[in-house]
Amino acid sequence: MSHASSYPMASNATGESQVPILELEHVTKRFGGLPAVEGLSFAMRRGEVLGMIGPNGAGKSTAISLIGGALAPTEGVVRFQGRPITRLSPHQRAQLGIARTFQVTQPFTQLDIRDNVIVGALFGGHVRSRKEAAQRADAVLERVGLAGKAHLKGDELTVADRKRLEMARALATHPEVLLLDEVMAGLTPREVGNAVELIREINQSGVTVLIVEHVMQAITGVSDRILVLHHGRKIAEDAPDAVLSDPKVVEAYLGERYARQRAAEQSRRALEGHENATQPSAPDDIAKDSQI
Ligand code: ADP
Ligand code: MG
Repeated sequence: MSHASSYPMASNATGESQVPILELEHVTKRFGGLPAVEGLSFAMRRGEVLGMIGPNGAGKSTAISLIGGALAPTEGVVRFQGRPITRLSPHQRAQLGIARTFQVTQPFTQLDIRDNVIVGALFGGHVRSRKEAAQRADAVLERVGLAGKAHLKGDELTVADRKRLEMARALATHPEVLLLDEVMAGLTPREVGNAVELIREINQSGVTVLIVEHVMQAITGVSDRILVLHHGRKIAEDAPDAVLSDPKVVEAYLGERYARQRAAEQSRRALEGHENATQPSAPDDIAKDSQI
């Protein structure tokens, strides 16, 4: 089965189509029989920013792990520049140019920030010595705004700084494709603004970016296209405006919000001793919310 027609293919000056830098074909990941990602196919062209959104548990982090190599798919193929990488380790994928951040930040807490980033540089394999790794780390720390905190330990950082460290570690590997898993969660609006600016700069320097984010304003502002996952399946993939007004997408989010409101209402009523819980009021439109 061919899906080539639905894939965004960039054309070069001669009109020749280029191979996608990253491509997933019918990728499924099951945990104990339950699918976290199911039949996922999409492709990215070099230089683009693709946003990935979806309610909690939709499979976004799993998809990132399947691309970065922390997880192997149950079925399907992941390709980098046309070459299957499905069986490569995270380390081998890093050396090819794929880097990721973790939603739950995982710094080496005994190491200081600088050493954490040096480890990233060495992991990427594009440096020839520890000295070169240190130089790369210093440049990256400057870039993400952590240079002044280079000697703090991994566990002495604020949420925002831990997110910056995740970015720095990924950038230090010298990626061609950067996978960002909720790097803006827990940041203030101003910090979100800075993070968006940094991601734009990174993209403009030639890095292809896949960004998973809950901060709607940030993801629509920075993404060329947005892909929506729901229960592990792709339900939309289009320009940001088209995706946000897609009834399937609105419904997926409203469904989640409705379930949350209902649970909250029910526990409140249980506490108040009401016997007959009534329906909660209709959820607000997602477009009014900055967080989804
Ligand atoms: P998202 O990042 O969109 O919130 P995840 O990819 O983290 O979603 O999770 C998708 C589904 O897979 C969830 O139902 C989650 O509980 C399940 N899941 C994720 N990782 C594991 C795992 N290591 N073992 C078992 N189930 C998992
Ligand atoms: Mg997640």
